[in-house]
Amino acid sequence: MISKKMQDALIEQINAELYSAYLYLAMAAEFESQNLKGMASWMEAQAKEETEHAKRFYDFVNDRGGRVTLKAIDAPPAEWKSPAAAFRAAYEHEQKVSAMIHNLVDIARSEKDKAAEVMLDWFVNEQVEEEATASEIAEKLERIKESANGVFMMDNALGKRE
Ligand code: MG
Repeated sequence: MISKKMQDALIEQINAELYSAYLYLAMAAEFESQNLKGMASWMEAQAKEETEHAKRFYDFVNDRGGRVTLKAIDAPPAEWKSPAAAFRAAYEHEQKVSAMIHNLVDIARSEKDKAAEVMLDWFVNEQVEEEATASEIAEKLERIKESANGVFMMDNALGKRE
């Protein structure tokens, strides 16, 4: 049985993951509006992953005898001044998510919830990947700056994500 404290913290995380999905879908819409189809599809794939993250937390709370009650999801920003700015914002967002996951690990330890701790291990590793990927793309785009050719090549490369 999950503790109330652990349950409520995980429900907050469901909200954060769904907000992430919303944020990346908003970025996809921004890229769509600029005909950057590759970046849009990369962000759509990212949004889909975030809903899967939310589902992992949702399933865990249910499996541990908790009760999920969902909260309102904040509206994400609607526009970014460049593709580089959007990916930079994605990186900054993932850093915040990592801090939240690390806080959940602390709660799991203080609640002596070994199952939650083991489940969270996957997310600790996942966040290392998420941060590395977003920061790498942001840095490349920042180096490219306004070069139309460079942006076109990055759009093409990001569109190849499975
Ligand atoms: Mg996530």
